[in-house]
Amino acid sequence: MKVRVDASRCQGHTLCAMIAPESFELDDVDGTAHAVSETVPAALEGQVLEAARSCPEQAIVLADEGSDTEGKTSTVAGVVK
Ligand code: SF4
Repeated sequence: MKVRVDASRCQGHTLCAMIAPESFELDDVDGTAHAVSETVPAALEGQVLEAARSCPEQAIVLADEGSDTEGKTSTVAGVVK
């Protein structure tokens, strides 16, 4: 699974980093989140999915491995195909 944060939607609520601290970090300057790594290790997929569902701005974009997160929009339900 792949992940990125849509910076234009992120409001820096920090929920993602609290739910999945190994997968999301907040920028010290502008306070927005970014993914630690685009590729999500299998062991962290559950946390990342939960973070995506919990993001109030739907700013977390997920995609299947082999797919691309660019140009996709977030879905609360889960992974963009
Ligand atoms: S929960 Fe969503 S809006 Fe909040 S910091 Fe994370 S990505 Fe940004």
